[in-house]
Amino acid sequence: MSTQPRESVLQRRLSLSEMLDVSSFQEVVRGFVELYRIGIKVFDERGAKLADIKIGNGDFCGYVFSFPDGRQRCTKWVQRVKDGPMAQSHGARLPVLDGERAPSGLVTAPCFTGLRYLLLPISFEGDTLGRIIFGPFLPEEMKGFPDTLTDIAGFEVGTAQALVEKVRRAPESTVARVMSHFFQVFETLLLAGQKMYLTSQLHIEATLAQNKELEARNTRLSEMNSRLKELDRLKSSFLATVSHELRTPLTSIIGYSEMLAEGLAGPMNQEQVDYVRTIMDKGETLLKLISSILDISQIEAGKVRLTFEPIDVQEVISSSISSLKPQATKKGVVLETKVPPKLDRVVADRDRLRQVVVNLLANAVKFTPKGGKVSATLTSVEHQAELSGDGYRIIVEDSGVGIPKDQFDRIFQSFYQVDSSSTREYGGAGLGLAIVKSFVEGHGGLVRVTSELNKGSRFIAILPVIPPTQMANVSPPQLPIPEEPDRF
Ligand code: ADP
Repeated sequence: MSTQPRESVLQRRLSLSEMLDVSSFQEVVRGFVELYRIGIKVFDERGAKLADIKIGNGDFCGYVFSFPDGRQRCTKWVQRVKDGPMAQSHGARLPVLDGERAPSGLVTAPCFTGLRYLLLPISFEGDTLGRIIFGPFLPEEMKGFPDTLTDIAGFEVGTAQALVEKVRRAPESTVARVMSHFFQVFETLLLAGQKMYLTSQLHIEATLAQNKELEARNTRLSEMNSRLKELDRLKSSFLATVSHELRTPLTSIIGYSEMLAEGLAGPMNQEQVDYVRTIMDKGETLLKLISSILDISQIEAGKVRLTFEPIDVQEVISSSISSLKPQATKKGVVLETKVPPKLDRVVADRDRLRQVVVNLLANAVKFTPKGGKVSATLTSVEHQAELSGDGYRIIVEDSGVGIPKDQFDRIFQSFYQVDSSSTREYGGAGLGLAIVKSFVEGHGGLVRVTSELNKGSRFIAILPVIPPTQMANVSPPQLPIPEEPDRF
C-alpha cells in the first residue's frame, strides 16, 4: 500500500468520465443525433470513447470500405480525425461560418470521400479533456465525388450516389451552429457533473481524513494502553518481590517472639511477656497483609492456577470459623455457622475457597461492633439460576456498619476502601474482596453483595458444584478507577 498522502480531488485534473454520468450523457447525444441527423462521437483525452452515435452514413461508408483501397484510406482518415491534431493542419481548416458563431477551436476536416466532419476540442478550465466529432455530413455545395474516391479501382459512382443520399446534406455553417448548440448543452452537463463529483469526492476525502485521525488516536491509545499494562506488570512484580522479601524476616520475628513468650530463652516477667505477645500479634497482622499483597500481585500477573479436587465444604466453613473465633471473641462478636444436614461433595480448590470464606468472615468481624453477630451459611447443592447449573452458596452476613449502595461495585477493586482516609477506624489494605472475587470467578462462580448502612451486610458467593474448567487461570481483578482531580 502506498504511504503517499492521496492527492485531493481539488488538486488534480478531472477526466470527462469522472464528471459525466456516461449512460445519461449517451442518451442526450442520441437525442441530438436523431433530431439533427448528424452523427456525434465524443472521446476523452486518452482516446476512450464516451459516446458514438452514427446515423445515415453506414451503407455509403460500408460500400467504400468494401474496396481494399477504400478500407486503407478510411482507416487512415479515422485515425486522423480521432487522434490527429486539433489544428488547421493535416487536411483540417477553419470552418465556413457565414456569420454563425462557433465555439473556439472548431475545425473542418474534409474526408477523402467528399463528406465532411467538424472537430471540436473539449476545453474545460484551461485543460483539454478530449474532442467532439460531428459528422459525416454531405456539404450542400457538393456536386460530384472527388478523385480521391473515384480513383478507387472498381468504384461505381452510380451505386455510391444512391447510398450517399441517406447522409444528411447541409451547409457547413448550419452544422457548425448545431455543433455550437450541442457544445453549450455539453458544457452545462459538464459543470453540473463536476460540481456533483467534487461534492461527493470532498465528502469522501473528509471522511477518510476523519478516519485517519481516528486511526492515529487509536494507535496512540493502544500505545498508552501497552505502556500502562507494562507499568502495571512492573508494579505487580515489585509488590511480589517486596512482599516476598518482607515475609522471610517477619516470619523470623514472629517465631522468635513466640519462643521468647514461651520462655525458651529464659523466664520473663508478665510485662515482658505482654510486650512480646503484642509484637507477635502485630507481626501476624503484618504477615496477613503481606500475604494478601503477594496474592493479589500473583493474581494480577496471571500466575495463580487453581487446583480442583473433591472437597468437603462444611469442613472449609468450620475451619474458617475456628480461625476467626479468637478475633470475634476478643471483640465481643457472636459467630454462627449454618450448614445443611446432608453432606454435599463439591469440586473446588480447598485452600483458595477457605481463603474466600476467611476474608469474608474477617471483614464481617472487623466491620461489626461489639455485641454484633456474624454468620456463615452454606446451602445445599441445588440449581443456581445465575450459573445456569447446579451449585451452592456461601453466605457471610453481619450486623455491622454496612456499605453504601453506590460502593457495591467498587469495593471489589484492589486497594479500594470505602473509608480511605488516613484517620479511618478499620485497618486493611483493600485487597480482601478483590482476592475473594478473583478466586470465586476462578471457580466459575460469582459474588453478590447487599447491605444497609448501620444494619449490616451480606456477601453471597455462588459457586458451581463442579467448576467449568478443572484447571482454571485466575483473572486479575479490576484496578481502582482514579478519582478526577479537583479543578478550580
Ligand atoms: P479491607 O477490608 O482490607 O479494607 P476489602 O477488600 O476486604 O479490604 O474490603 C474493601 C472495603 O469494603 C472495606 O475497606 C470496607 O470499606 C468494605 N467492606 C468489606 N466488607 C465489609 C463488611 N462486611 N461491612 C462493611 N464494609 C465492608
